[in-house]
Amino acid sequence: MARERTVVKGIVLRSVDTKESDKILTVLTAEQGKISVVAKGARSRRSRVTAVTQLLAYSELTLSESRGWQYLSEGSPIALFDGVKSDIELLALASYFAELVEAASYEETESGPVLSLLLNALYALGDLKKPQELVKAAFEWKLTALIGFEPLADACAYCGVPDPAEPMMDIRGGVVCCRRCGRGKGPLMPLSPGSLAALRRVLYGDVKRLYSFTLAGEDMARFGAAAEAYVHATLERGFKTLDFYRTLRPGQPQPGPYERIGG
Ligand SMILES: [Zn+2]
Repeated sequence: MARERTVVKGIVLRSVDTKESDKILTVLTAEQGKISVVAKGARSRRSRVTAVTQLLAYSELTLSESRGWQYLSEGSPIALFDGVKSDIELLALASYFAELVEAASYEETESGPVLSLLLNALYALGDLKKPQELVKAAFEWKLTALIGFEPLADACAYCGVPDPAEPMMDIRGGVVCCRRCGRGKGPLMPLSPGSLAALRRVLYGDVKRLYSFTLAGEDMARFGAAAEAYVHATLERGFKTLDFYRTLRPGQPQPGPYERIGG
């Protein structure tokens, strides 16, 4: 009996070795969201699909379905992101992006924007060599927005002033506020006028220019710490891949503690 064949474009978010020489892949596609794919014999030396079953490989995959499982029959790589894979820090950061996206994606759900976000982030890291902290933070903020948790950043959520004095990010409420207005709420992460401007750019600006700005010092540190705290609060978990990335960059600033003001 002929099996039904489908062709999808997708990126490997996770690749798990299984019995004999097989792999089970978690792949993000635009049309079908997150799918599981069995790649039979992918670890054997004679396999023709080894390249497309690697973590972060973006490929055109021909799948055939049998008894509820999708099997990989052919694959043709579109982008393998060698610039990311040849650098241990970039690979660690990209692995964190993949774990975040896996946690934030669902089966049978249109996922084109999230797929584009991930592909563009890998390109920004590996090919354009954009600063890691900037790509990481912009990616985290934009991901929360794409999965339905866009923070309210156009004004203080409580008093409405467009440029809050000592701006703060309410991690649980997903809103920006003045330090005074945030009293008793939170937990809060401190922003700065510069980091708030960057956040607005990422949320409301052209997605094609997501990483086309610079940020430094305290502005970058606050932009980054608040992004990480917010994406983890939204997904309600931590990430082992991020812990590993941190061990590779011991001199880099760690995310600051939440600030509780009067609460
Ligand atoms: Zn206010």
